[in-house]
Amino acid sequence: METEAFQAVLAAVRTFVRKEVVPAEDVIEQTDEIPEVIRAKAAAMGLFGYALPEEYGGLGFSMSEDVRLAMELGYTAPAFRSMLGTNNGIAGQVLVNFGTDEQKRHYLPDLAAGDKIASFALTESEAGSDPSGLRTRAVRAEGGFRLTGQKRFITNADRADLFMVFARTNADTEGTKGISVFVVESGAEGLTVGPNDEKMGQRGAHTAEVFLDDVFVPESALVGGAEGEGFAAAMRSLARGRLHIAAICVGLGQRLVEESVNHAAASRQGGRPIAEFQQVQAMLADSQTEVMAGRALVLEAAKSYDDGSDRRMAPSCAKLFCSEMVGRVADRAVQIHGGMGYMRTVPVERFYRDARLFRLYEGTSEVQKVIIAKQLLRTGR
Ligand SMILES: Cc1cc2nc3c(=O)[nH]c(=O)nc-3n(C[C@H](O)[C@H](O)[C@H](O)COP(=O)(O)OP(=O)(O)OC[C@H]3O[C@@H](n4cnc5c(N)ncnc54)[C@H](O)[C@@H]3O)c2cc1C
Repeated sequence: METEAFQAVLAAVRTFVRKEVVPAEDVIEQTDEIPEVIRAKAAAMGLFGYALPEEYGGLGFSMSEDVRLAMELGYTAPAFRSMLGTNNGIAGQVLVNFGTDEQKRHYLPDLAAGDKIASFALTESEAGSDPSGLRTRAVRAEGGFRLTGQKRFITNADRADLFMVFARTNADTEGTKGISVFVVESGAEGLTVGPNDEKMGQRGAHTAEVFLDDVFVPESALVGGAEGEGFAAAMRSLARGRLHIAAICVGLGQRLVEESVNHAAASRQGGRPIAEFQQVQAMLADSQTEVMAGRALVLEAAKSYDDGSDRRMAPSCAKLFCSEMVGRVADRAVQIHGGMGYMRTVPVERFYRDARLFRLYEGTSEVQKVIIAKQLLRTGR
């Protein structure tokens, strides 16, 4: 049951996104940055902590509330959501679900306020889809651990104050066992962040390599105070993240449909609006149908997440369907725009590039299929 407080936040975010972020999309694209005024307003609205617990200064949204919010955030440049995404999602949830009380007290209030940014540093050159190839090592040292390794594609690395670094603490253990997770602060000696990657799309959202060269962290940096919890922590954060990404795809799909309808109504050929052509109408209808299917799937999956009945298969089904769906919707949006759809000046060209990422990160489509099939074969349903 959604509270009045949630409804108020949802309405405020909807207005903010449409009135302030959408008009800034060209600036975000040109500067590759989110304007400070937008960042500050988002922080003031509590958006850096919507999924963090209220006792640590967050808004404490359930998964069902998170996805409703994400559908609004997804309506605009995905970089806006990305700015908020690591604190609430993949990085923040590591602390929420696995941190000690002391770690939560120490870090979560600053993350919720947007005063600090956290990044999730799992991926390496041979450990992307399969973290069992992870090579970053954490070796016990006097009073703590020494970490050495190299991470890549780390979202918000250039802005991060803390990194959730996944490292192998047990050198004798292969596979996913023996992986632990540490909070490493950006000022730690031996930690460096590479230049921002040149990406296909989602300008304004940054990724970079993170190098750890014999970085010392105290014992208290080990998340949860226990070794070997890293893989479980990563999977738990990612499952929630997948459902969130699916909802972002629904929001972007909705925007693409609206851009398509507006263009079809305004653009003329042979003296008639192209919206009168049945083949254009068919594209609009296919996209609308798919967006509605995605929305229904995400809401259902969020319900199962909240009641605990499915936190594994449904998030993957939603991520798989919605990320593929928004790719098809973006493709049709470009088609409906004709040659104009290929021009850098129109939003659908930008969204076409932006949408491509959703099938890749937080688990590729192929990886979602592996998870879904494994779960089906294990449980028989
Ligand atoms: C913009 C961006 C932001 C990112 N942000 C972060 C972040 O903040 N933190 C972080 O840790 N990571 C991040 N990543 C990394 C992202 O999660 C990985 O890129 C993704 O999981 C894929 O891993 P990979 O790139 O190593 O590709 P690979 O795993 O090498 O995949 C290559 C191909 O092989 C396929 N494949 C791999 N294994 C299997 C299998 N078992 N069965 C079938 N097919 C398979 C894949 O589906 C894909 O088609 C980000 C990536 C990008 C591009």
